[in-house]
Parts: sequence; C-alpha cells; structure tokens
Amino acid sequence: MTFVPLLGLVLLACVAGANENSLRVVALLSPENGLLQETAFNHAVQHMNNDLRHTDILEKEIRKVESFDSFSTGMITCDLTSKGVAGIFGPHSPSSTGIVRSICETLEIPHVLTTWDPYGLPSQYTNNLYPDPQVLSQALAEVVRQMRWRTYTILYQDDSALVRLQGVLQNTNPGDNPIIVRQLDPNKDYRPTLKEIKKSSETKIILDCDPEDILDILRAADSVNMMDEYCSYFITSLDGHTVDYSEFRDTGPNITTMRLLDPSSRMVQHVVRDWIDAEARDGNELDITPETLKTETALMYDAVLLYTEAVVLLNTSEHILQEPLECRQPGRWRKGLDISNFMRLRQVQGLTGLIVLDANGRRTSFSVDAIEYTFEGFQKIGEWNPIDGYISTRTHEELDSQISTSLSKKLMIVTSREGAPYLSIRNQTDPPTLFGNDRYEGFSIDLIDEISRILKFKYEFRLVADNEYGNFDPKTGEWNGLLGELLKRRADLAICDLTITYKREKVVDFTMPFMNLGISILYRRTEKGETNLFSFLDPFSFDVWIYLVTATLGISAVLFITSRTTPYEWDNPHPCTSDPEELENNFTLVNCLWFSMGSILGAGCDILPRAVSTRMVAGWWWFFALIVVASYTANLAAFLTVAKMEAPLKGVDDLAKQNKIKYGTYKSGSTAAFFQNSNVSSYQRIWAVMVQTRPEVFTKGNAEGVDRVKKEKGDYAFFMESTSIEYQMERDCDLVKVGGELDSKGYGIAMPPESPYRTKMNEAILQLQEAGKLKMLKNRWWKEKGGGACDDEAKDEPEDSNKLGLSNVGGVFLVLFFGCLASFIVAVLEMLWNCRKIAVQEKISPLEALKSELKFAVRCSVDTKPVSKKPETEDNEETEGASFMQLQMNFDKA
Ligand code: ASP
Repeated sequence: MTFVPLLGLVLLACVAGANENSLRVVALLSPENGLLQETAFNHAVQHMNNDLRHTDILEKEIRKVESFDSFSTGMITCDLTSKGVAGIFGPHSPSSTGIVRSICETLEIPHVLTTWDPYGLPSQYTNNLYPDPQVLSQALAEVVRQMRWRTYTILYQDDSALVRLQGVLQNTNPGDNPIIVRQLDPNKDYRPTLKEIKKSSETKIILDCDPEDILDILRAADSVNMMDEYCSYFITSLDGHTVDYSEFRDTGPNITTMRLLDPSSRMVQHVVRDWIDAEARDGNELDITPETLKTETALMYDAVLLYTEAVVLLNTSEHILQEPLECRQPGRWRKGLDISNFMRLRQVQGLTGLIVLDANGRRTSFSVDAIEYTFEGFQKIGEWNPIDGYISTRTHEELDSQISTSLSKKLMIVTSREGAPYLSIRNQTDPPTLFGNDRYEGFSIDLIDEISRILKFKYEFRLVADNEYGNFDPKTGEWNGLLGELLKRRADLAICDLTITYKREKVVDFTMPFMNLGISILYRRTEKGETNLFSFLDPFSFDVWIYLVTATLGISAVLFITSRTTPYEWDNPHPCTSDPEELENNFTLVNCLWFSMGSILGAGCDILPRAVSTRMVAGWWWFFALIVVASYTANLAAFLTVAKMEAPLKGVDDLAKQNKIKYGTYKSGSTAAFFQNSNVSSYQRIWAVMVQTRPEVFTKGNAEGVDRVKKEKGDYAFFMESTSIEYQMERDCDLVKVGGELDSKGYGIAMPPESPYRTKMNEAILQLQEAGKLKMLKNRWWKEKGGGACDDEAKDEPEDSNKLGLSNVGGVFLVLFFGCLASFIVAVLEMLWNCRKIAVQEKISPLEALKSELKFAVRCSVDTKPVSKKPETEDNEETEGASFMQLQMNFDKA
C-alpha cells in the first residue's frame, strides 16, 4: 500500500462528498502518525457522512505538518482558517500543538486533540480525548500497587514520562524498599543499563518508552538474561498491547500493560473490519487487526464521532456554516464555542469506551484494562476507573491454570549439593552408564520426582560448584552456594537439607517445610563401669540406701521392744524344768539385728518370733525385704545389660559448663548462624568458646563433623541438625543424640524471589504430606537404605536404668512403718491382757501389774524375767492347768 494513491483517494472523496453546507474539518498529521491515523480520520468522516441523519455533513482535509516545526504548522493553520475551517484535529506533537491551540483560541475554532498532552493549559476551544495525564498517572500507580512488587526499577525514555509516573513515584512509603529510576540511553544502547540492573538482582521493571522501542529494549534485556519467568515488566504505554511479544513466550517473563480500548469489543472489531474491507475495495491491503489498533488511531475515529455528534446537536437548533478567518486580522467564528461546548456536553460510545469530557475539555473519566501476556496472548487481569478504582477480574482458577500451563512446558533446573541421605552420587561403572539425573540418588531426588509427577514438569539436577548451602559474603556482597545459584538465575529450585532462615527468606522464596528439625548434639557414647567398683550401688539412689539402713536398724528396735512387751516371747530357758524360776527372752538387741539382717539378705535366721505381735513385725519386714530385693535385682539387671554405655553429657548446659570435651559445628551453615546470632547468654558463650578454641572446632561439612566425633572418642561433640543426627544414629550405634533440640525449624525448597511456582510447589508438598509420602520417603532414606543397625540396642540414654529413688520405693517403707505400728499395738494389747491375768493371779490391782511389767520391759539389759507365783490358796485345778500350759510351751519349744 502506498501513500500517494491513498492521498489521491482522500482528495477525491473530499471533492465528491463536499456540498455547500458541509463543514470543513482538517486533520494535521505528522509523518510519525503513520497511515493508519489518516485511515481512521477518513473512514470516520466517511462513516459520519453516510449516516442518514446527517448526510455529507463533513468535508475533510488532511494536512501534513512537521512534528517539531511549530512555525510552519502555524502557517498551515492560518492558511486553513483563511479558507474557512470548522474544526482542526491534531497535531500529534506537543511542541506544535501550542501554536494551533492559540490560533484556534483566537479565531474561536474548535480544536480536537487525541494525544497525551501533559503541559497543555486548559482552553475553551481545545478538547482532548486522550486520558488526562493526572488521572492516567493514578491508574498506573494503582495497577503497580496491585501487583505488590517489593522493589522495582523504573526505566524511562524521556523526561515527560516522569509526569506519567508521578503517581507510581508517590506510591512508596518511607519504610519501603527504595525505587531505582533510570533513564534509557538516548542513543538506544540499552544493554549497559540493563546489565547494571541485572547485577543489582532487580527483576521488576516499569518500562516507559515509545511502543516502537519496546521490542528493542526487551531484546536487549534478553541478551543480559533478564527475560526469564522471574522477570516482570510493566509497560506504561497504552499501546503496549499492540507489540508482538511471541519471541519471549518460551522464556516466559511476566509482561503486564494497560489498554484503553478493548480489542474484543464488537464496535472495535466491526470498525476494523470495515476499514479493511473499504481499503480492499480500493485495492489496498490494510495491515491492522483489533489487537494491533493503536490508541491514538482509535481516538482519531472517536474524535470525529464526538465532533459530529456535537455539530448535529447544534445543527438541529441553528444552521452552521464555517467562515474564512485571517490570522492577522481580528475576527472569530461565532459557532466555534458552541461546538466546543457541545462536545463537552455530549457523551458518545466510541472505540475507546464511553467518551466523557469535563468542563475543561479533558477526559478525566475513562476506564482502562490491566492485561497480562500469557501463552494464549494478552489476558485481562483487572480494570481501573476513577470511581471504582482497581477491580481484579482474574479468577483464582485462571491464574492457576496459567501457572500449570507454564509449568508443564518448563524444564526446571534443580540445584543441590552432595550430602547423604539427601543426594549422593551413584557408583559408576567404567565406562559410565548413568547419565543426567540417574547419576544421583537420595531423598531430594525422590522428593522432586514426586512433586514433578504432581505438577507435571521436567527437571534436571545440577550440583552447585562450591557445595555450600547459601551464605552472604559481605566482602563480595553476594550469596554463595545454592542461594547464589538461585539469585543468579542459574536454577529454578534448590533442594537439600536447606534450612529456612529469616535472612535467606528475605532474598529467595521458600516453600513450606517438608521436614521439621532442631539443632542438637551429636556425641559418641563411652564405655562405662569398668573402673567403677561400686556400681552395685547404682540401682538405688543414695537416699534409698540411707533409708534402707535406717529401716533395718529401726525394725530391729521395733522387734526388740515388741518382744519385750509381749508376754509370749518370754520363755522357759530350761524346758526340762516344769516350774522355772524365771523366763528368758530370745530377742535381745543383737538377735533382733541379726534377725532383720538375715531376713533382708535372704539368709533367714534361727530365731523366730512366736507372739502374734512379733510375728506381725517379722511378716511386715519380710514383705518389705521381698519388694526391696526384687526392685534391686531388677534394676541391677537393667543397669548391667542396657546401660553398658552412657554419655557423660545430658545436654547443652553440661557441654557449656565443662572444657574437657571440645565442641564445634559446620562453619557456614544455619547451625553456626544460630549460635552467632543468638541472644541467649549460654549460646553466646558456646559461640565464643567455639570461635576461640584451637585447633579449629568448625568443620567444612557435617560429614567431617561426624568423622571427628567418631575419631576423637568422646573428646568432641558436634552441633548438628536432629534429622542428620537421626540418620547417623541409624547407622552407627556408638553415636548418640545428647539432650533435646535447641530450636525448631524446617527444610524448604528454595526458589528465586517471587517465583510464580511457589504456590503450586506448596500445594504439591501438602499433597505429599497428607498422603504420607514425605514420611515414607524419610523412612526409605533413613531406615530402609542402610539404617536400623541399632534397632536392638538402646539408642538414647537408658531411662529404665535410672537409680530407684525414694519416690519409687517409698511406698514399701510406709507399709513397713504402719505394719510395725500395728504390731506394736498388738504387743501392747498382749501385755495388757497378761497384766490382767497377773493381777488376778497375784491378787494385785491391774495397774500395779502393768507398772511392774512396764518397769521390767524397759530394763533392756535384763533378758530374764522371774515367773510370777500363784498364791498357796490357789485351786489345784488351776495349778494343774498352769503346769499343763508350761508343758505345752516346753513341748512347742522343743
Ligand atoms: N542445614 C543447614 C543450612 O541450611 C546446614 C547446617 O547448618 O547444618 O545451612
């Protein structure tokens, strides 16, 4: 299609369509407006003239002006007015707009603009259909706010962009991350600026430039690896959607922009179709689609539409005709102000939505769509208008399916480090037969495999060169290890025993934890007991031993007193003498002691009690002995079998209090960082000791720490994460976890900051957790593959072999005490009964009998007791009875 035939066609149309009542409207177009602006103007006028309500109402003319030549633009305008003109459309360039505006104002000719005009002063005769710069700036700011970017860089082309971006610049609060604002190179060498942005790890960019330059800038960004899925661009141009971004579709950067017109609207589609058909009829091929229709082109059409509607409205009340007016002579067109005012009153539905102008002729009320580039082209994600603000129109499902689609097309680069059981390198044959991911095995591989099955992505494992987890080096200002890989965008995921920490979370994204753990102490058990000659004392605590000795002495005393109290322990020392002078008591103090010791040691005793009370004492004592001996035996067995080994440490406090056993940790991991940054005084002390200890107690990895614990046989303890300790304990029974966990944290899969895949990854981890797969995987790599070596052995400090304290055996002491009390009461009753008998026999009062018995009982050194004689008058029967009883007793004794 060429410009010359079209211009000829336009002139022909002007002549053909003109009649004496037509109003002459002129479009001032500059070369950069392109052909489509002309097409829009022509077709709009033609469309209006064809309308039955106002046939041939307009007579059109197009004049070419140079963008930056305001003088010649002024001359052309004066030339036009001298011939009579009813409306001037344009020009496009702000530098030549001023002169046209002032001529129109002087001669009172309606002036219509369709361009962004940030510096234009309000005029009664100028109406601008382009969204008002202030309001548009608010819309941009709101869309940027909705995207919730933590930091971003603004890249702009010329200074006027700052007016458009003022809302965005005001968006930030004092506490927010600073925004970087950079101007693009006027010589169009964009790479150096983009390289610097890349170096600063910035991934969010607001790009304000001519739509024609967008692709060049993005290609330059691509050349410095800034066009991957972790990079986001917000393009401020309202024509951003007309650019073809398909070359970046596979790398997947997030491109968001705004548009004033909706290509899917019936009006836009219909008008564009009409233009194409009309041009085709004239043998021209029009390269346009609703998607590539530019805002200013559509606005030119809308401007003619609004102007015509205003003229029609005015024409119905009075006849309008343009008048020739000279710039250098005073004069004005009386209808000009009316048409301009009617344009502000009238509301029409145009290609760019409902056109409403305010009293100053500015378009402050409009609606824009926020759109995002996806695999299927641009998709609307929200809309903004000054009344309702931003309304998100993207559903969760849409976002979800968008991410799923992008995941399914993606090869995820997974960075990891060597370290069993998370990842180990498989043994290879020579020549090697394993390639790609098959070269590795471990928990991490299996976990990513499970996740990839759920999310349907492909993955490739790559080992990080420095084998580090991720630490910030203040000297270089960079992160190393796995985190460095993510931040340099060399990987999409990082997985291993990578602890989620606050510092790391600030620079990368973590999934929810797939494993929970805490810092603990790895130590080697030491052989115990060989040097301890008195380990037989271990089953009972010291208290219990003391109580036991006291009980033995006590029971002897109780037995002694009871036996003296009861009359039935007094016995005839000479069984052959039927009528003894005195009775003897076998339970002397020494015998009582012998009896109680013999019983508790299981040896028995040749002296046995005969009275109910003394037998009760003996019974309770034997019961006590049974329980104590059984408890001792059981606990001794536990001590000798289970507790063959023990750690001299009980926890971190024991470690901190001593200086014989050295302790250390992996020097550049989160465990070291925990001690280094801790506010707890004992942990601070531990850190200080670790730093000062020579030779160095820090290790280059956990494996080195484990080796050191094994080799230094109890002289070195290693702070390590509980999961790794468990893994080691499954394989080496000499290793033990000492004490509890010092903190509580988790391992997560790390991703580059603001990764679009985080939610999906979290969902997959949750699914695996709920299905019990995470547990199963842990079981497989901890226990099944080489674990379980110590299943038969006690792994922790044997709880059962703890010494029995008073709290364990106190009950049996109580039973003994109350038993003795009961026995003593029985002994007293026996004594009272005997006193009564003596009182009857000796014809004395019971009190006197009791007194004499008591007096005798408390004389502990006396072991014999005179037999009380019956008075002579005593009845024979009674004497016979007594001697029979005595005989019986002697017989029992024999
Ligand atoms: N898992 C730790 C890390 O991510 C390493 C350690 O300190 O044991 O840094």
